Amino acid sequence: MHVQSGYLRRGIIGNLNRERIQQVNRFFNLILSMRKILRRFIRIFLIAVVAGTFFLLLFDLVFFPLPSERLSRQSSYFIYGRDSRLLNCFASQDQYWRLPVKLDSISPLLVRTVINTEDRWFWYHPGVNPVSLLTAMADNLKNRSIVRGGSTITMQIARMMEPKPRNIGGKLVEIFRALQLEMHYSKNELLEIYFNLVPYGGNIEGVGAAAYFYFGKTPYELTCSEAAILAGIPSSPNNFRPDLNPEKCRSRRDRILRQLHRQDIIDKETLSGALKEEIPVERKERPDHAPHFCQSIMSELSSNLWTGVIRSTIRMDLQALCERLARSYASVLKDKDINNLSIVVIDNHSSELLAMVGSPDFNDRKHQGQINGAFAPRSPGSALKPFAYALGFERGLITPASILDDIPVSYSGYSPENYDEEYNGIATVSEALIRSLNVPAVNLTANLGIRDFYEFLQAGGISTLDRKYYQYGLPLVLGACEVTLADLANLYSALGRKGIYKPLKMLAGSDDNKPYDLLSEEACYLVTEILSELQRPSLQASWEFTRDLPTVAWKTGTSYGRRDAWAIGYNPQFTVAVWAGNFSGEGSPWLVGAESAAPLMFAVFNQIMQGHEHVWFERPAGLGTRLVCACSGLPPNEYCPDVVSDKYIIGITNNNKCDIHRAIVVDKETGYELCRACEHLGNPDTLVMEDWPVRLAGWLSDHSVITKLPEHHPGCSGIFVHGPPQIISPEHRAHFEISKSMPSEYQQILFEASSGLRNRKIYWFLDDRLFASSGINERIFYEPVKGDHTLMCVDDLGRSTTIRFSVR
Ligand SMILES: [Zn+2]
Ligand SMILES: [Zn+2]
Repeated sequence: MHVQSGYLRRGIIGNLNRERIQQVNRFFNLILSMRKILRRFIRIFLIAVVAGTFFLLLFDLVFFPLPSERLSRQSSYFIYGRDSRLLNCFASQDQYWRLPVKLDSISPLLVRTVINTEDRWFWYHPGVNPVSLLTAMADNLKNRSIVRGGSTITMQIARMMEPKPRNIGGKLVEIFRALQLEMHYSKNELLEIYFNLVPYGGNIEGVGAAAYFYFGKTPYELTCSEAAILAGIPSSPNNFRPDLNPEKCRSRRDRILRQLHRQDIIDKETLSGALKEEIPVERKERPDHAPHFCQSIMSELSSNLWTGVIRSTIRMDLQALCERLARSYASVLKDKDINNLSIVVIDNHSSELLAMVGSPDFNDRKHQGQINGAFAPRSPGSALKPFAYALGFERGLITPASILDDIPVSYSGYSPENYDEEYNGIATVSEALIRSLNVPAVNLTANLGIRDFYEFLQAGGISTLDRKYYQYGLPLVLGACEVTLADLANLYSALGRKGIYKPLKMLAGSDDNKPYDLLSEEACYLVTEILSELQRPSLQASWEFTRDLPTVAWKTGTSYGRRDAWAIGYNPQFTVAVWAGNFSGEGSPWLVGAESAAPLMFAVFNQIMQGHEHVWFERPAGLGTRLVCACSGLPPNEYCPDVVSDKYIIGITNNNKCDIHRAIVVDKETGYELCRACEHLGNPDTLVMEDWPVRLAGWLSDHSVITKLPEHHPGCSGIFVHGPPQIISPEHRAHFEISKSMPSEYQQILFEASSGLRNRKIYWFLDDRLFASSGINERIFYEPVKGDHTLMCVDDLGRSTTIRFSVR
């Protein structure tokens, strides 16, 4: 360098005067020495950076790892309906309102405003802004108190993460944490963390909850004025809260807005518009829709749910409608000592719960209004019966026109009775279901097998059957069990879904369980057709909402002792289920399904169908129509006098012909029946008569439902000479003692008979109730009940023997 400058001096500028040369020389020397210093400075700076980074990393990894878990706090829960409207919300366990939001769902204007007011160099600094720190320090010294913190957004996060006293030590930790945060998170992530932690006054934390409670909005929907309010609150939350200090809040907002205008972030019109906006002087109330449903959801939530946003399937409009109808209907029921009711509405296509009312008034402490009646296990009365019929159709055992026994019967001591305590002898399946007769339903269930019926209910989502099938026994079909309204409604919705079972869906997007076939479409159609023939209750004028009433298949239930009234209706679109009763379990003479629950069910149904096209189920291809004997409901034989049209499941329904109508030969003069062996004794004439099975014939002729078959010719020497069956066990007038020390199943009494005939069957009637039917050599056991008993044994031809015995 020296050589070069000497060359310059001598060769090129040799003729310049000495003074000038000396000046230039000094200048060059200065530059040279400055470059030395600079080089040394850069070296020291680089060493410092490397060492700083090394120590930062060392501290970050070893001594003071970042407590990241403190960056997200336990959320409160916001439950939305399917239309994204807020139903209800619940504070976090520490009683804060926090609604986590993503950065891209925060209004970009709010983000810009906050950066502009809090930390203009946010995008450029490494977590700490030395310039603003130094100016803040100078200001604080001048004022002899802390007026400014000089904190960046990152440092504010550090302070919210780990609150520290406001002194030099605290500041240093804050700076270290800020650098650390910048190492771990991107700028966008830091912004998101900031917006979710920052306090907005009272127990509101984070912009999600603040936007809701101050403006009833999401943080994306904020106006310019609202964004400025929210940007202004955190620096002194309780001071700038709009609900507590609206005037301070306004001046803070206006200052921020004017600053935004000066910085060309908003134009003049936006500014003047925003300045005119009102300050909200009240915090929004916590919404309280579907309180029972939301409480149930909350109690089932797993505590590790972070998002705090729960999207439910509830449709706000239907929920509000049901809550309104429930309240007004409850006032009608109150006069009848009925204080609680529940409603469940299901969308049949998706099995989504659309509305749920747990009780008419959540806040009615006197009548335990906070109980969710839709999930309370109660006795369903007759509401399970249609499913026994559906199973009967499905298995080909019955058709709508086929007949079921309705005579006194005993199943191991259990004797079902009809609601009106009358027997009808026989009833068609349609009639038995429409009139909700108990005895035919029990007989049908005995035929299906109680275990199969029980397992069907379990497969259909009845979750409250906590005993074994044999502990329930046949009374199960009459409602001697407990079910919840929600389970029952969802089981009915499977009928509306043509037999496909889907679990009740209450949260959007929860499709864990696969749907499966519970019943065939044909069986559902047959049940639905019968249930839609039911006569609707005559509704009071105020409950009639439309003249054009939709077709609804429906069933009611009334529990024993009139404690529960049920009504469930469905069509292809919806299932509506109503329960009425008292949570206290108290009964009321008015608690009858058709009277207390059905009117409300129809009121809901009529309302929700408004605006919907009334479509009905299409008849499935697997269903045929056939003519059957009007009397037996079976395909007619050549003697059946009347036939009716009936539906049946092709390839499934049993095809046995009518065995009631048959031709018999009688003596024209005496009327005695003649057989081949005695034909010659009279003047034969052929008649068509009803020949009912022995188990029915006695009751039917006793009650003059049928005329008795003629007696056989007394002079006959054929097989009919053999007498009636003989009872071998027990003996006539036998006495039995029950021992308390032995289990009752070891003390059963044997019923056994002998018959000279090649009979197909004999029938046992205990105390005038059909107890059992058996083959000739079959042994029947009876678990004894104390008292005097009569036992009758009847053979295929209707001949009988009766004995008496007693149990002590
Ligand atoms: Zn017939
Ligand atoms: Zn004969």
